[in-house]
Amino acid sequence: MSYIKENIRDIQTQIIAVCDRIGRDPSEVQLIAVTKTIDSARIKEAVAQGITDIGENKVQEIMDKHDDIYDVNYHMIGHLQTNKVKYIIDKVKLIHSVDKINLAEEINKRAKQHNKIMDILIQVNVAEEDSKFGIKSMEIKEFIHKIEGLENVRILGLMTIAPYEENPEDVRKYFRILKSIFDEIKAKNLPGVDMQYLSMGMTNDFEVAIEEGSTMVRIGTGIFGERTYLK
Ligand SMILES: *Cc1c(COP(=O)(O)O)cnc(C)c1O
Repeated sequence: MSYIKENIRDIQTQIIAVCDRIGRDPSEVQLIAVTKTIDSARIKEAVAQGITDIGENKVQEIMDKHDDIYDVNYHMIGHLQTNKVKYIIDKVKLIHSVDKINLAEEINKRAKQHNKIMDILIQVNVAEEDSKFGIKSMEIKEFIHKIEGLENVRILGLMTIAPYEENPEDVRKYFRILKSIFDEIKAKNLPGVDMQYLSMGMTNDFEVAIEEGSTMVRIGTGIFGERTYLK
């Protein structure tokens, strides 16, 4: 059996096991295979094993892969520059990394030109690390208030990248904070906001993230192995 097939099976088994343990329905947790730096052949192998959604963190990689791998949903999970929105607006299903008002406005403008509603998540830097993008937890409500009126943007939830800790228990607190804010906003039923997705958890910490309410886990290394960066 190929390692990709085996890894996907292992991750799916782990997702189901965590859900069983805490009484969640595994279908509430979507697996997004993070394919940054991964070549088309390996991505196609993952797709053949049932992967329906892939995450990329660079506009260029989405553009390069899009024509070759078209039978999947693309998720933009990396930092997005305003001037590059136009290249991916018609190619991605969900943008996880909205963290600036002007970025949301640009997405709205480009979505309108394409006659579509773009679904987005707001990226939150819960641990307030200098090295990471995202707004602060305490800014979420104001941020949503500023962009909820954009007609061609639909806010579907929140995303975070937890700090890397050898012991994933150490980041549980960040997931918990985000989930509680998520629930609070959801309860408000704001216009233009439909809190469905909480994108949190990567290879190292996805089990803890699911325990804390994640509905989308973004897994790269756990499926494809260590990445090789060319530059
Ligand atoms: C690379 C990346 C991932 C996947 O990380 P792994 O540790 O390889 O699972 C998840 N989310 C984002 C935003 C990433 O850039």
